[in-house]
Amino acid sequence: MPSVYEAQCPRCGCRGHHSTACYAAVFLDEPVEGESLTTAAKNRQHRLNLGDSLREPEDHRLLVLAHPLEGQILDDAGYTWDTVKIAGRFVVTYEVVCECGTVFKVRKLTGPAVVGGWGSLLVFAGTLSGGIAIGLWMKSLWMMMGTFLVLMLVCGIADGVYGRWYIRRYFRERAKAIDGPSQCPNCGSRNFVSIASSRKFPCPQCGQTAMRFITVART
Ligand SMILES: [Zn+2]
Ligand SMILES: [Zn+2]
Repeated sequence: MPSVYEAQCPRCGCRGHHSTACYAAVFLDEPVEGESLTTAAKNRQHRLNLGDSLREPEDHRLLVLAHPLEGQILDDAGYTWDTVKIAGRFVVTYEVVCECGTVFKVRKLTGPAVVGGWGSLLVFAGTLSGGIAIGLWMKSLWMMMGTFLVLMLVCGIADGVYGRWYIRRYFRERAKAIDGPSQCPNCGSRNFVSIASSRKFPCPQCGQTAMRFITVART
């Protein structure tokens, strides 16, 4: 259930930008065609300021995975959660706010957690068997649980590191084209944070550094 945030200033009552803190998209080779959306998906697209379409206004090759239809949209595009990441096409867009008060989007081609779905079940079964084997051998329930948790942790970290390395290595040019921006388009500062953080920033109406994003709904 992603949260919807809205910029509010308690000093003057000004209300600003509203959006979720991040959402995922699939990078396609061709621009996304006009999609017919269900009402629920349309409402969410409007909340994200994306209009009626599943494509990103700034880059029409990005197919937005609108909640709660992520699985269906992925399926229509011919991917699963696993294959879209391995294909180097999984893009996350973060909504950020700069110290100057400018709200903008930062995109990243990403690939952590390559192992998902059946893969993660296999890892789970493998680490559980490992834990049970060690536990029986050492005749200790604590060793069993400890081994299981450590193995799960190692697998999780390895998966994340491998995912990032793989994407950076094989899709370097694509990552370069998609990633960014790395600084505020208004003032050039690199000091920006996710809108999900509660940092205060200047209000466009009263000018005081009192505005911040608060959760107004869940989608
Ligand atoms: Zn700025
Ligand atoms: Zn204000």
